[in-house]
Amino acid sequence: MTPRAAGRLTLETPVTYLTGVGPRRAELLKRLNIFTARDLLWHIPHRYEDATTVRRIATLRVGEDATVIGTVVSTGILPTRKGLRVFQAVVRDASGLIEVAWPGQPWLERQIAKEDVLLLSGPVRFFHGRQLAPREFVNLGKDADGTSGGRVLAVYGATEGLSVKVLRGLVEAHLDALLPLVEEYLPASMLAAAGVPTLPEALAAVHRPTSVAAALAGRSRLAFEELLCVHLLHRRAHALAQEAQDGIRFVNRRDLTSRFRAALPFTLTGAQTRSVREIVGDLTAPARMHRLLQGDVGAGKTVVAVFAALVAMENGYQVACMAPTELLAEQHARTITTLLAPLGIAPVLVTGRLGAAARRAAAATRAGEVPCLAVGTHALVQEGVRFGRLGLVIIDEQHRFGVDQRRALGEHRTAGRRPDVLLMSATPIPRSLALTMYGDLDVSLLDERPPGRLPVTTALRPESARARVLGFVRRQVEAGRQAYVVYPLVEDSAKVTLKAATTAFEELSAGPLAGLRLALLHGKLSSEEKDAVMRRFRDGAVDVLVATTVIEVGIDVPNATVMLIEHPERFGLSQLHQLRGRVGRGAAESFCILLGDVGPEAAERLQVIVDTEDGFEVARADLALRGMGDLFGERQSGVPTFRIADPLRDEALSDRAREAAERLLADDPALTRPSHRQLGEVLRRNYGRALELFRVG
Ligand code: ADP
Ligand code: MG
Repeated sequence: MTPRAAGRLTLETPVTYLTGVGPRRAELLKRLNIFTARDLLWHIPHRYEDATTVRRIATLRVGEDATVIGTVVSTGILPTRKGLRVFQAVVRDASGLIEVAWPGQPWLERQIAKEDVLLLSGPVRFFHGRQLAPREFVNLGKDADGTSGGRVLAVYGATEGLSVKVLRGLVEAHLDALLPLVEEYLPASMLAAAGVPTLPEALAAVHRPTSVAAALAGRSRLAFEELLCVHLLHRRAHALAQEAQDGIRFVNRRDLTSRFRAALPFTLTGAQTRSVREIVGDLTAPARMHRLLQGDVGAGKTVVAVFAALVAMENGYQVACMAPTELLAEQHARTITTLLAPLGIAPVLVTGRLGAAARRAAAATRAGEVPCLAVGTHALVQEGVRFGRLGLVIIDEQHRFGVDQRRALGEHRTAGRRPDVLLMSATPIPRSLALTMYGDLDVSLLDERPPGRLPVTTALRPESARARVLGFVRRQVEAGRQAYVVYPLVEDSAKVTLKAATTAFEELSAGPLAGLRLALLHGKLSSEEKDAVMRRFRDGAVDVLVATTVIEVGIDVPNATVMLIEHPERFGLSQLHQLRGRVGRGAAESFCILLGDVGPEAAERLQVIVDTEDGFEVARADLALRGMGDLFGERQSGVPTFRIADPLRDEALSDRAREAAERLLADDPALTRPSHRQLGEVLRRNYGRALELFRVG
């Protein structure tokens, strides 16, 4: 790094040395992760507004998402019953007035004054009249003329005490000095193949766009760079893991596996056969396996995993199969017990709640008795559990474990060799997206459903059909079946959710479902109480399970034939699909009923669920509508986060970035060539992992 000569601006210059940034502002900038001039230049607007997107206030309707520009007529702070203070403003344009509310942000009183012109965007709600709930706003100041004047406005991520306006001013003030310091370091041929502009052009376009289209073209260059970096890290990690050869080289003896295949009551689907072949290929190779097996609910992942387990066992190794909850672990143990019965092999269950016999068996596992198949929860990685000869680790619903938990099992060594790892996931995502997210893994897809599974009849029914729907549920139960009734989580309000479900539970018990055995499952129960309720349902002691929380993914109650979902519009499509996967698991015809009066937009969205049972199609539609975070419900640990790129929206760009990364590494695996030196630096600067993967010298 070049030492900073006094007064000379470099990209490494701390922001405190920039005009317009004093110690207080520098502190605030830190909150946005802006420490240096470079960070400021890379603080990219997250969206743009121009006159074409601004609406007239009078035309706004409840339920819409809109952008308006208006002059502040009045402001005030209102306390709510919950003790939250809401900053409110009334804004006016030539067409009319609207109230704007910022709950929990009373400090805005110091930033928004009467007669300021605001550019606001967010959903329009009904609250004593129309009210705008701004996701973001720009204070255009007092003298703004109430239009965006044909300008394209860059909207930056801001923080309390540091408005978008101040940030925009700061970037604007330094842009001309900073841009000449930026050089393109990617080969021109690569940029041409990707169809993106050079770095200086891109940075100029994102900060000072002539049009929204130009800004987005600039953004694509930065997104490409981010995706390229992630793919380089993935592919390099993958290559090094292959080279390390510290895995176990299993021999495909076809002893247990052949007997297993012969004893199966069905033949494998093409996708299962292909996945088994891919997995056996990994197991018999000297490198460790790191494979993700993706398949929709009911695609038959367990059978594939058992094949892998048997290969390890016929080589005299132990296998550990870890699931996120006790219930799931028990269920896996039961399924595997049935599958392996013809071979006279029984899995050992290792969970927090062990009986005496299980404890003895678990102790034998620890003592290194081989071969064995241990199925359990994270109890498998807790202290005291030792495997003498662990050859394979299988992790179900892998995204529900932390990186450390996933890693712990893999650290068991047998004569210096570490076990192979098979991860499983029931949230199927398109292949190219999987490669962006989990590119250091190999991916096997179960994209074919086993034959003989009855389709689940799915229907959207209005409120007026409630009595008929409940009558149907009743008849199913009277015919010996079981049913789920699911309520959505009301955001920010566990109390309201609980009340809604409790009330409904009481109404159902007293009215339409009187005389049936109902149980209520909700988030306020302890995990033991939840388990107990699920167990009673599984064992047939409960006819109808009323649940507020999402029912355990993967729970298998074949006798359940009805999934009734209340307020379906409040669920994501993937969530609905997972819920639907809880039925149709037995021999009887099953039904998924989405009940409620939903708006036309919601109805259109829910039609995806009614129309298709293909989890990939559902996931794709869901991703397009709601974005990455929501698909998984939470941020996944160990998955790359992107500041600029959006792995779904930028799917094509990501494919191009992956091809570019592969070509680059084929040519220069450690990026040591002089022409790749800067790229190596970018990687090391931005990604901690790169320090290990692309060492200098
Ligand atoms: P997943 O774990 O992917 O949700 P499972 O492994 O639990 O799916 O399989 C779902 C059901 O389908 C199980 O009852 C299983 O025995 C059955 N099954 C799996 N593979 C096949 C197949 N090839 N043909 C018929 N049934 C199958
Ligand atoms: Mg399963």
